[in-house]
Amino acid sequence: MEEVSLLGLCASLCDCIGIEPPKHATQKIDSFIDAMTVGGKVERIVMFNPDAVGRWIVEKFKDKFDRVRAVAPYTQPLETVFPPKTPVCFASMYTGALPAVHGIQRYEKPIVKIDSIFDALTRQGKSVAIVASKNSSLNKIFRGRDKVDYYTVKYDKEATDKGVELIAQDKYDFILIYNQAYDDSIHFTHPLSCRAKRALDSYADNFETIGKAVAATGRRTLLGYAPDHGVHREWYLLGNHGRNIPKDMLIDHFYTVIN
Ligand SMILES: [Zn+2]
Repeated sequence: MEEVSLLGLCASLCDCIGIEPPKHATQKIDSFIDAMTVGGKVERIVMFNPDAVGRWIVEKFKDKFDRVRAVAPYTQPLETVFPPKTPVCFASMYTGALPAVHGIQRYEKPIVKIDSIFDALTRQGKSVAIVASKNSSLNKIFRGRDKVDYYTVKYDKEATDKGVELIAQDKYDFILIYNQAYDDSIHFTHPLSCRAKRALDSYADNFETIGKAVAATGRRTLLGYAPDHGVHREWYLLGNHGRNIPKDMLIDHFYTVIN
């Protein structure tokens, strides 16, 4: 089966909310757009970005992902960009551009200078909030946009709480909420450890909480559970990511539209 590239997500999200995509987002995923806009364009997008959840992890822990699917039943299989490192992948997710074009090609966190979904949204009158922990890639790489509101939080729970607060305020058209416990856990342990499994549960808990907050506002919202890349276990036994292998490159996203 030919994999769908993560590069198509950016323009697809823009299409769903009815804006022109950023300059380099030239691919889109027609089947995704069709599914998400059955009832018309959405008014708001809430992206939950849980770090490092690969497709094989979704398949391995079906029960944990039944909870995610209960909130967001539409599965979008994707192939991420190489190298599968956090700032590289999120930069591509939100610009629609290859690493060579957006400029982040290894684990480093410079500000992305090219046109992004956040620039496209604010230029077309939409309001944007990015909620991410201190020092995380998503806290750093899309800085420098005057019209974007940045919320720096301590960790995943605080990111979820802040996200829920912003959803309830109904002030933003696009809210990004970053979570990182699974990625952190696999670097200290491995992808199937107890600590890693607890982190996947915390992602599911937080996603459920965000789903409830969205449902309570009655605004037509596209909600996504959207990881950046997968993980594998190294010969020295710790978890890692960054190789061009299916465990690192293949991911599943989950989406729904809540009215
Ligand atoms: Zn990551």
